[in-house]
Amino acid sequence: MHHHFTEEQSMIRELARRIAEEKIEPVREQSDREGTFPWDIVKELAQTDLFRVFIPIQYEGMVEEGLGITNMCLVTEELSRVCGGIALAFAGTGLGSFPIILFGSQEQKEKYLPAIASGEKLAAFGLTEPDAGSDAGAIKTTAIKQDDHYILNGTKVFITNGEVADIYTILALTNPEKGARGASMFIVEKGTPGFEFGKKEDKMGIRASVTAELIFNDCKVPAENLLGREGAGFLMAMKTFDISRPGVAAQALGIARGAFEEALKYAHQRHQFGKTIISNQGIQWMLADMATGIEASRALIYQVADMIDKGETKNIGHLSAMAKMFASDIAMKVTTDAVQIFGGYGYMKEYPVEKMMRDAKITQIYEGTNQIQRNIIGTYLAKMAGKLARERE
Ligand SMILES: Cc1cc2nc3c(=O)[nH]c(=O)nc-3n(C[C@H](O)[C@H](O)[C@H](O)COP(=O)(O)OP(=O)(O)OC[C@H]3O[C@@H](n4cnc5c(N)ncnc54)[C@H](O)[C@@H]3O)c2cc1C
Repeated sequence: MHHHFTEEQSMIRELARRIAEEKIEPVREQSDREGTFPWDIVKELAQTDLFRVFIPIQYEGMVEEGLGITNMCLVTEELSRVCGGIALAFAGTGLGSFPIILFGSQEQKEKYLPAIASGEKLAAFGLTEPDAGSDAGAIKTTAIKQDDHYILNGTKVFITNGEVADIYTILALTNPEKGARGASMFIVEKGTPGFEFGKKEDKMGIRASVTAELIFNDCKVPAENLLGREGAGFLMAMKTFDISRPGVAAQALGIARGAFEEALKYAHQRHQFGKTIISNQGIQWMLADMATGIEASRALIYQVADMIDKGETKNIGHLSAMAKMFASDIAMKVTTDAVQIFGGYGYMKEYPVEKMMRDAKITQIYEGTNQIQRNIIGTYLAKMAGKLARERE
């Protein structure tokens, strides 16, 4: 099935696919095994201008109007089809940049976005803390104003692109008594005194992506690095997720496609009982379910991405949550079934499907677990039901 992508979007997709096949595929196994960050691929993405696809044209990006979520998803999907971990260097930079794109002042955008667009600097987004994961409002990191600075203290955990990024968008409490309503968002540059990196995680999957702890110890951030206004940080973080979750969905879609293609090829090659395994209806049914899930994910993701790009930013949260939840559940199922179709060989590291299954799992967890996505969708539905009931009265 084909969506109606513009000529530019189709070119972006083709370019990302070529880089994935020519540059990422030869290194993915080693990157996964050794957990090495793909600096060479980052350089390649920078040289081919792919970091520009989600940055507005005024700041040396490519997006002429609205947001570049479709572009972002196309690149993430194609890179993830080959390696969901390496793709995250790109997608994590998108996540870290979105608060600046959405809420930054012109000065902040001029200062930070061109270096992200050129790929010279990567970005990261820091919200999660040891005691604040799903309950994001429970963060404890503080940012207390002192003259023309804020002093940050606290620890962020599990931060994608931690240490490799130069630009961090960080949620911290400027008014700790108010809890989530006292949260604000800041841009913090690597190298700021008092900003250090802690534990680097050893992960099940997406091993080519760096996940690290950020430690703020009397870290002095200039007051002009506050994004928007004090107290609006929690809302900004939620609005960021509304536009970033289709990207996680696209990562899941790419991983699922990669696994499906491998399984289809293998089912056609592998002989048992004197015939190819694909000639068994049991295998065909598995492949049929996999293909259907992939097509449905794709339709949902690009519909939501297109709505966001065209300016629909209200009432989008539940749709983004649906895309993320659905595509990641499908990716988990498709990759698990791909391993099944490979039989014992699927369990071995010699073939890529076991890695794809490990990589798929994270898409059900980060940017809000799928339980939290169901909460978002459920809350929206309950609100709508109340509204309809009031209208009927
Ligand atoms: C590899 C990786 C990369 C990450 N990258 C980033 C990043 O770049 N930036 C960032 O800020 N964070 C990042 N995270 C953090 C991620 O978003 C959180 O791990 C996630 O939101 C879940 O939080 P938690 O791990 O504390 O789990 P918990 O919140 O402790 O949840 C544990 C379990 O309880 C369930 N649960 C919790 N509350 C409810 C509820 N109300 N209803 C039903 N079930 C519930 C959850 O679904 C889950 O199954 C990353 C995490 C990982 C693993």
